Amino acid sequence: MDKEFRIETKCVQSGWKPKKGEPRILPIYQSTTFKYDTTEEMGRLFDLKDEGYFYTRCQNPTNDLVAAKIADLEGGVAGVLTSSGQAAIFYAVFNICEAGDHVICASAIYGGTLNLLGVTAKKMGIECTFVDADAPAEELEKAFQPNTKAVFAETIANPSLVVLDIEKFAGLAHAHGVPLIVDNTFATPVNCRPFEWGADIIIHSTTKYMDGHAMQVGGAIVDSGNFDWDAYGDKFHGLTRPDESYHGVVYTKQFGKAAYIMKINAQLMRDLGSIPSPTNCFMLNASLESLALRVERHCYNARKVAEFLNEHPLVSHVNYAGLPGDKYYEMAKKYMPKGTCGVISFELKDGREAAVKFMDSLKLAAIVTHVADARTSVLHPASHTHRQLNDEQLVAAGVSPGMIRFSVGIENVEDIIEDLAQALEASTK
Ligand SMILES: *Cc1c(COP(=O)(O)O)cnc(C)c1O
Repeated sequence: MDKEFRIETKCVQSGWKPKKGEPRILPIYQSTTFKYDTTEEMGRLFDLKDEGYFYTRCQNPTNDLVAAKIADLEGGVAGVLTSSGQAAIFYAVFNICEAGDHVICASAIYGGTLNLLGVTAKKMGIECTFVDADAPAEELEKAFQPNTKAVFAETIANPSLVVLDIEKFAGLAHAHGVPLIVDNTFATPVNCRPFEWGADIIIHSTTKYMDGHAMQVGGAIVDSGNFDWDAYGDKFHGLTRPDESYHGVVYTKQFGKAAYIMKINAQLMRDLGSIPSPTNCFMLNASLESLALRVERHCYNARKVAEFLNEHPLVSHVNYAGLPGDKYYEMAKKYMPKGTCGVISFELKDGREAAVKFMDSLKLAAIVTHVADARTSVLHPASHTHRQLNDEQLVAAGVSPGMIRFSVGIENVEDIIEDLAQALEASTK
């Protein structure tokens, strides 16, 4: 068995492991299809009887090797890459839910997820109850229904920066016989290992820190292999009963701990097809090699920036779980002791108008619909990502109208702070 390496080593070494004479670097299998010698050989692949590649919409070796690296970073048994983080969330939920089912989701959540689960999933017959993740367990209990199939939350919520009590959520989900799915995009596996606290499935928008260079949109789903689908076979019949669309394969029987991910490959990818291109996966892999290094610098810089803002007379409030005194500081220390993320949010004393002046005066930090990138960037959630929400929904999502989301990059932190200082000054004029 391979030695279990530490996270920094896994970022570099996991996934593609060349044998004698093979390329040192992950090869890009930029091919839609794969050749076989006999009709029978290819037939067996379609029956899922043999392992092998036949069509890139279902599986591709480059993509699978990068998925394997991310699965290893999270400590999971199997993973799959998707063409976006949104696709990853949709697949993760839809793999075990269908019309008539119900999911529970933390209300402090990414705007796209709020729409996906609150609006689009509803059109497909899947109902979602949004809950305040900070509420006591007894309160959260009430959200469960007999048809509840999953609980969903973000380990660090975007953009509210609420830190999830993973153990509390996992305990609740398991007491009701359903898995906890977490979005670990902001914390990354470098800082937070949700499986160690009871989460069952992890999704990522790889678009953020994993890519880290604003080059490509992508997503990932990783399974811990710990949830016992067969113990709740009636509930998760898609995994535990014959799949008529695949010659009666029973995923849990045939694939054991890899059942959940294999069903996504065999069924959802086949039918819905949100695959990333192998070339994008190659780029993602190159980015992952520096993930641990970048995350460390993002967190170092963000802490300095948070301290600067916290003391600034024009700033009324700073949210950053890495800052002592933050509402989530203790929770973050438990679940992410090495650091949280590079994203900070804060409020200007003089409200929305000052916020807009401040944003327009920044020189180094760029206004972009993006976070978790090597370059420092800034966004006004109320007028950008969360524009479609009314004031009530904004508050529930942990977003106030004057809030600024500031994504601290890996530049020299003195340059970032000088830029903030001059823009704050300009916001009063
Ligand atoms: C960006 C983001 C998503 C959506 O990912 P895309 O790759 O943009 O589709 C989901 N969750 C979180 C926490 C995000 O930040």
